[in-house]
Amino acid sequence: MKIVESIPELRKELSKLAHPIGFVPTMGYLHEGHLSLVRKAREGNPSVVVSIFANPTQFAPEEDLENYPRDIKRDLELLTTEGADVVWIPTVEVMYPEGYQTWVEVESLSTMLEGSFRPTHFRGVTTVVAKLFNAVGPDRAYFGQKDAQQAVVIQQMVRDLNYPIEIVVCSIIREDDGLAMSSRNTYLNENERVAARCLSRGLFQARDAFLSGERRAETLTQIVSDEVKAEELADLQYVSCADPETLVELDGEVKSCLISMAVYIGKTRLIDNIILGVS
Ligand code: AMP
Repeated sequence: MKIVESIPELRKELSKLAHPIGFVPTMGYLHEGHLSLVRKAREGNPSVVVSIFANPTQFAPEEDLENYPRDIKRDLELLTTEGADVVWIPTVEVMYPEGYQTWVEVESLSTMLEGSFRPTHFRGVTTVVAKLFNAVGPDRAYFGQKDAQQAVVIQQMVRDLNYPIEIVVCSIIREDDGLAMSSRNTYLNENERVAARCLSRGLFQARDAFLSGERRAETLTQIVSDEVKAEELADLQYVSCADPETLVELDGEVKSCLISMAVYIGKTRLIDNIILGVS
């Protein structure tokens, strides 16, 4: 496994790889969710490239970039085990050299859901992912359904900018008790960790109701919000029932939907979601 920092070093290693190249962008502090993407990439492609970069432009000033968990040594051990070919760990200077001033923005989709609470977030995501795509030139790129809106936004960017890259969206990997895996889960203390189960509990109850025939968007979101509000340490920021492709908020009877949510557990902001009615 080659570990590279600069773009020239990366290009040199890429030139030795057979196509198709599967690419997994991450911010590091890897867990089974990330590794499931690497495994999918490994299964489907002769070459696998992983990037590790905690992208400052997708964090607002009051967000947690400084404290974002890091353990590069452990990440590299895990990636060696998974059989990644190249790991690219650019510095902030490599990605955003002095004088940097170009941005990639997916306009409408970036303002919805998460974007209404984190107005600069997706501009940072699309800019960095475009730069990562330009440098790596992958044939396929792997993203998690955990960040449902991110996957939709990236797919739109790929269509709009004609990237010849297939986007593969992989299912959410959860802890045994249902909590969606996330690097941010490490911020939770013992009581908060227990409280954090309310997100998936609410989503699974909505899923069960949907499977029993409940189709009203308002009822499905109410089920989720009741479950979260019953949890003392949880503070629900939003719960949405939206079209899984356009992210437009739905009301009345739905055939399929993306139920997504953000919840503060203490100071930690967690997101989770579930897609209903799509096989
Ligand atoms: P991050 O390091 O948080 O930027 O995540 C890198 C990639 O891993 C993104 O495409 C995430 O959606 C994906 N990911 C993070 N957590 C999970 C999870 N629990 N299950 C599946 N994919 C995940």
